[in-house]
Formats: sequence, structure tokens, C-alpha cells
Amino acid sequence: MNIISYGRQHIDDEDIQAVVDCLRSNALTQGPMVAQFEQAVADYVGARYAVAVSSGTAGLHMAALAAGVGPGNALLTSPITFVATSNAAVYAGGTPLFADVDADTVNISPAAIEKKLAEHPEIRVISPVHFSGLPCDMEAIKNMADGAGAVIVEDAAHALGSRYADGSPVGNCKYSLMTVFSFHPVKSITTGEGGLITTNDEETYRKLLRLRSHGINKEVDTYQLPENAQTDGVPNPWYHEMQELGFHYRITDIQCALGVSQMKKLDTFVSRRRALAKRYDAAFAGSKLIKPAQTAGRDCSAHHLYPVRIDFAAAGTTRAVCMGELRQRGLIAQVHYIPVTMQPFYQRLGSVNADYPQANAYYAQALSLPLYVDLTDAQQDSVIALLLEVLG
Ligand SMILES: *Cc1c(COP(=O)(O)O)cnc(C)c1O
Repeated sequence: MNIISYGRQHIDDEDIQAVVDCLRSNALTQGPMVAQFEQAVADYVGARYAVAVSSGTAGLHMAALAAGVGPGNALLTSPITFVATSNAAVYAGGTPLFADVDADTVNISPAAIEKKLAEHPEIRVISPVHFSGLPCDMEAIKNMADGAGAVIVEDAAHALGSRYADGSPVGNCKYSLMTVFSFHPVKSITTGEGGLITTNDEETYRKLLRLRSHGINKEVDTYQLPENAQTDGVPNPWYHEMQELGFHYRITDIQCALGVSQMKKLDTFVSRRRALAKRYDAAFAGSKLIKPAQTAGRDCSAHHLYPVRIDFAAAGTTRAVCMGELRQRGLIAQVHYIPVTMQPFYQRLGSVNADYPQANAYYAQALSLPLYVDLTDAQQDSVIALLLEVLG
């Protein structure tokens, strides 16, 4: 059976050749491909600095630390996200907090942010998630962050190739201190596993470089104990300093070779995703049961997912039964996401799931339909037909 899942990578012969070339080169890691990949992404999004890392989650962890999240302060994000966004706050020793989403975008609600900022002066970081690639209202969020003395770390795991309302690329950090991307195979481009942080702030950039590699200083950093760096005025060529506690969050050259090759195709990937999203929109335009979860910003979004709201009750079924029937016919839909505030770990930390009615209303009806570059029009038509059939 030809399985159609909600998302998957596109890999062509050029990608394969790029990886093979790297395997035949001198450096499998810490070679030239990492910097090339960083430059390719920085140029694409228009950011001054880029730091490629082993995963989007590693990037969020480092970004939380570099933004100053720690004991006594908090990071505010959306309940409709992957758990990694708020886990970053917990890794850093800070408190994760949530603000409800808006019904029409499924993005964090500026009004809900404003309320949380008033209640929680300890909020140090706001982490908007561009859900499914649809950019959040960054203008409004930036104004609130500035007013509250908070900084912004964008979770743009869904949004490489997206554009803000003003037309500029997500990741240029005009609204934020840092933006974090993911290159898991279902995302806009892939490196197998991988992530990347962009920033325009040099000090933050240097901090990220240290955090990525054990907290060890880089050439541009000044020594904390300069007397150990030389012998009778001659520099000690082996000398380096571990200046803070860092991690091994490096990405390999093999992965970045794939990333460089994938970046060349990003625009084609996004336009195919956008065309598929518009075909779905047209197919469901007259449906009472199936409504696209987001309708605004169709030409701004990189369309990582195609989330719909389905009135399962009106169709006389449940989501569990519906997904089971789809699966029997080779179609694997998914739910993005279970509200993070529903997770037992977060409930033990004090989250009250009922405080997020819009997130819960969305979750009750959510389903992500297949959306990926290699999905053909014919396959998409069969997905639409199958879904309508299963819903009666
Ligand atoms: C995929 C994803 C992440 C984590 O990225 P990884 O590369 O899988 O670690 C974080 N946040 C969101 C919203 C994601 O979709």
C-alpha cells in the first residue's frame, strides 16, 4: 500500500551527491560545510549571524540561556506548540508560562500576552511560535515585550521560508533577539536532524558559539585568565578556556552539506506547499464539517502543516474512529498539537489546562492533513475524497 503521511522530506540526486562529496572529504564535522550552511540561511533570511546546531530543541535551549532565562524568571509561549518550546525554559531553570491562542490563527494571542505580562513581571522571554508557518503578529508582540522589558525568541521551527506581514523573511530578527529553526525531515528543509539560531546581536552570537561547544572560548573572546595563555610573552598555541558551562550541540558537516543543497530548493518547496494548501482551501470551501484552521496570510506562510478543524460530532463520528479508518486506507493524519498545558509534566508544574479555552477548542477538532513537496495533485485529490467519505 502507498502510505501517505502528514509530512515528509524531499531528497533528490543533488542532495545525495552533496552528502557523498562530504563523506569523501577531509572533514565529517567541524569543517567548511557548517559555515557555508550558516551563511546560506543568514543570507536567505537577512540576519547578521547564524549558528547551526544539532536540533531545533538544542537551539531553543541555547537561546533560552542566551536570553537570560533562569531561576526567578519566566518564558511565555503558546500552548499549541511542540513541547520543546516550553521545555527550553525548564532546561534553563526558568518558569514556563502560557498565553492562549487566537481562534482564527491558532497563534499566541497578543491580548492574552498583554494580560500575562501584567500578571507576571518576571517574564523575561516571549517565545511566539509561527504555527504551521503563519507568522504571529510580531509588531504587536514586540511593542508589548519592549514595554515589559522582555526579549523575544521566535520559535520558527515551522517558518523557514515564511514572511512577516511587512513582506520581510522570518528569521531576520527585526522583532526578536533570536529566531530558532528546525531541520527535522518534516520541516521546510532537512538536515536529518538539525537546527539553527539567527541573531543580529554580536554578544548573543558569541555566547551561542560558546554554548554550542562546551562553553569553550572562541578566538574572538578575550581570555579570562590571560596569564595562562602565554609563556614569557609567547602565545601558548594549545591554550583555550572553558569560560562557562556549555554543551555538545554541534551539527556535522555531513548534515550541513545536505542543508546547503536543500537551501537551494527552499523557494520551490514553499511554492509547492502553498499551491497544495490553496487546493485544499478550494476543496473545503463549501464544507460545513471541515474548515481550514488558518485562512489569513496564505501567501506569507511556509505551510509546514495543513491543519483543519473538523466537526466530528456533526459527522456522527469521533476523531479516533476517523483517523483509524483513514489509516486503514493508507492515510496517516496527525494532531498538532495536544496543548502543552494538558501534558502531565506541565500539570505537575502548575499549568491549569482549562485556562486556555481557545487552545482546547482547537485541539478538540484538530487534524493535520498530508502536506509535503512530493504529494501529487492526484494523491491530494484522493486524500480529499477519502476524508469526505470517512466523514459521510
Ligand atoms: C520541530 C519543532 C521543534 C523542535 O525541533 P527539533 O529539530 O525536532 O528538535 C520545536 N518547536 C516546534 C514548534 C517544532 O515543530
